[in-house]
Amino acid sequence: MENTSSPFIFTVDVEDWFTNGRTIKIEEWGNYKLRVERNVEKLLYLLDKTQQKGTFFVLGWIAKQLPLLIKRIHQHGHEIASHGYAHELVYRQKPHIFRKDVRNAKIVLEDLIGEQVLGYRAPCFSITPWAIDILQQEGYVYDSSIALNTWRRTYEPEMHIISNNHFIEIRNQFYEFMLPFRRIGSYTIPLGGGGYFRLYPYFIYKRMLYHISQIPFVFYIHPYELDVRHPRYWSTNIMENVRMYYGVHSTYQKLEHLLSAFPFTTMRSYYDAFLRNSNNIKWFTEF
Ligand SMILES: [Zn+2]
Repeated sequence: MENTSSPFIFTVDVEDWFTNGRTIKIEEWGNYKLRVERNVEKLLYLLDKTQQKGTFFVLGWIAKQLPLLIKRIHQHGHEIASHGYAHELVYRQKPHIFRKDVRNAKIVLEDLIGEQVLGYRAPCFSITPWAIDILQQEGYVYDSSIALNTWRRTYEPEMHIISNNHFIEIRNQFYEFMLPFRRIGSYTIPLGGGGYFRLYPYFIYKRMLYHISQIPFVFYIHPYELDVRHPRYWSTNIMENVRMYYGVHSTYQKLEHLLSAFPFTTMRSYYDAFLRNSNNIKWFTEF
């Protein structure tokens, strides 16, 4: 029952627990046992069960290790998009390295699915303005990496973030699906998913979604967030530990509730629907 006019978009960042941390280098990734496959299978099962579709931002390195998994996701009717190749923070890279990273990931993924990859999400939402230009030059059509931390890093805090439209044309014919956040009093809190989804009790999260004013609402989750057994790699940074591990035991159940309660769609479907009746979306940013 994919609902293309739905304001709810379901996304997954396809990577393993050791590729997402900032401490284990890519040269060491091969030393760890992959767990992403079984966790993606859980997501595919849940999405099938609730008849929902989502956009899977796949890390190029993972696609190289598990090509059949990526084909399976695609065969289930979900969108394959790019999470780059090596999970380096964008703003720490030189532009020519970033270009190579997003180009490689796109080639690997397109070779696997035989279809154009349109979307990109930066590791840890680390996008920065020059990278948007490169994404467009490399044939991407939309990005979904602007979150509250991106704004805070790039601009003065709180600047430009009060808009109800989270699907914006940030370059001529290049679009951004911003991650959602909500203002509560003088605080602005992110609520797109991941650690935030695990942090809030489900009934509160659900209530917030019923009252979203910023659309589309982009939800995101990582496969390892459904994995109670993934090896713990404790950081000295407490917030990093919360981000990785808090509430993992109940994610699966919460996710099933969420997928049963709201109609989700893919970014590609939302984008196609927008192009079909495109008289709207005129909110440009300086990004
Ligand atoms: Zn990631």
